[in-house]
Amino acid sequence: MNTAPDILVLGLGPAGSCAAIALAQNNFSTLTVERKKTPGTPVQCAEFVPALIENMVNNLRDCHVQNISSMLTMVENSTPDLMADFPGRMIDRADFDAKLAQEARKAGAICHYGVNVRQITKDGVVILADKSRIAPKVIIGADGPHSLAGKAIGSTNQDILETRQISVPLLKPFESTDIFLNADIRGGYAWLFPKGETANLGLGVVASDKARLKDILSSLHERLIQEGRIGARVLNHTGGAIPAGGMLKPYGFLNNTLVLLAGDAAGLTNPITGAGINAAVMSGRLAGEAAADWLHSDLDAPENYQQDLDDLFGASLARALKRRHEILSTYANENTPTPDQLRASWIAYSEYWAA
Ligand SMILES: Cc1cc2nc3c(=O)[nH]c(=O)nc-3n(C[C@H](O)[C@H](O)[C@H](O)COP(=O)(O)OP(=O)(O)OC[C@H]3O[C@@H](n4cnc5c(N)ncnc54)[C@H](O)[C@@H]3O)c2cc1C
Repeated sequence: MNTAPDILVLGLGPAGSCAAIALAQNNFSTLTVERKKTPGTPVQCAEFVPALIENMVNNLRDCHVQNISSMLTMVENSTPDLMADFPGRMIDRADFDAKLAQEARKAGAICHYGVNVRQITKDGVVILADKSRIAPKVIIGADGPHSLAGKAIGSTNQDILETRQISVPLLKPFESTDIFLNADIRGGYAWLFPKGETANLGLGVVASDKARLKDILSSLHERLIQEGRIGARVLNHTGGAIPAGGMLKPYGFLNNTLVLLAGDAAGLTNPITGAGINAAVMSGRLAGEAAADWLHSDLDAPENYQQDLDDLFGASLARALKRRHEILSTYANENTPTPDQLRASWIAYSEYWAA
């Protein structure tokens, strides 16, 4: 392994791969390390992406499983509200991540799997699990919600949603993302997303309610079995953390080493929907370009990167954060949110978009 590359990218999720593609295309020596042994596996995702992402990712058609055309939202078991124009794609996320990493490799990045980063020193030296040390000129932290690169520069996600998801047989195919809003699901929501012959059924809640995930998911599973929509067999289990505190300062320095954060590591996931693939792809690419600019002696590159992220995501993250704080404050005042308050906290309703 090259122990002094121009750039070391931590993590080969969508953010890391997109950063590596941009860098390798600029002919910088780019090393990437990923602790997973197999690209994209295990999947920790509900596998929905907005249709627009097709303009940014070459290989999406290969990973496409089915189309999404609308969103149905059920507030406290009421009849569903339809948002008719909600174009999206259900993808095979493992394949998506693997293909992006393959593109990075083809562009010239060196990708190592099964390599765990243990520590990053205050001098910018990255120490791996086997104790080897790497001293790059730039570190790109694309290492997810609990980023070590973020920790090293003091930018850490403080507010985290915890999730649990199962894959189940889908008995009645459909083309919407089904959303369940319920006062019992504090600071989050439940989802049923169709994926061909199966569906992803899951939910996210505030971290302090993590112990309740299993019971809430079991009762929703039972209810949907009774309705004849899905089967009882659990094909797969997953879960994981989602940053819900908004954008962090996406750069810092460890001595002379520039550290840039992208994707979940930079807190770019939407605090209301939990969606972060799109932002990971876009920020990964921008982080790669910013690192290239920096290595070409553009001293403003880190600040310009932060500005670019703010231009792209600042307004939508700020709105989502505001709505998240509003709904959480009802619980803090020992009240249960009303159906109207739940609606105002979700993107399908005009109240969410009001000033
Ligand atoms: C249950 C669940 C459902 C979701 N559903 C959706 C959805 O439907 N649509 C959507 O848009 N978003 C969804 N998200 C969010 C989405 O998955 C993330 O926003 C997205 O993966 C962020 O990409 P990333 O590249 O920043 O981080 P990640 O995809 O998390 O990639 C980070 C990589 O870094 C690696 N890594 C971490 N630490 C180290 C280390 N120390 N050493 C080496 N490697 C390391 C990890 O193994 C990982 O592969 C969901 C999240 C969860 C948990």
